[in-house]
Amino acid sequence: KNKFFVAVMGAGSVGKSALTVQFTQGIFVDKYDPTVEDTYQKTLELDGDQVTVEVLDTAGSEVLVAMRELYMKSAEGFILVYSIIVKSTFYEIQDIVEQLFRVKDEDEVPIVLVGNKIDLDSHREVSTQDGKQLAASYPNCDFYEASSKERINVDNVFFSIIRRIKEK
Ligand code: GDP
Ligand code: MG
Repeated sequence: KNKFFVAVMGAGSVGKSALTVQFTQGIFVDKYDPTVEDTYQKTLELDGDQVTVEVLDTAGSEVLVAMRELYMKSAEGFILVYSIIVKSTFYEIQDIVEQLFRVKDEDEVPIVLVGNKIDLDSHREVSTQDGKQLAASYPNCDFYEASSKERINVDNVFFSIIRRIKEK
């Protein structure tokens, strides 16, 4: 298997598009249309294999719960993003995961939890410990704090989700 389908989900404005574009294109987009929903593709070498990852950057999931269910059914792995500077976005992760396990109906779903915007640490509302703890409460879930802006841990987030799908 060398093709992987990953969905990026989370509240609005947390940096889902910035993370996706930073990973696939190596640039930081300052202003990205919040309604844009698109798939991106990147081929890379990971652990000696050439792999292609298809990334679905979701949008407007707050309103379109039914759409969310569709993505959940089709994607193999999930990058769940919150912003470390907005606490409510962290709470929203728990709703998404609840729905995810309901839809997938599997014991294990590959997830990487991402606390984004760590370059704005002085405005932090969610502690690293809280992020770690939430990730530890799910099976097969990794955790990173990241910055799409400064490209901190961006590759690691995607490498981790690919490895998790592979090893599932
Ligand atoms: P989305 O709605 O989750 O797709 O969020 P966007 O990717 O559109 O980002 C929302 C806003 O946050 C934009 O103005 C981005 O430039 C900004 N943003 C995204 N990631 C970061 C980050 O890591 N650091 C900072 N400082 N801003 C970010
Ligand atoms: Mg977006």
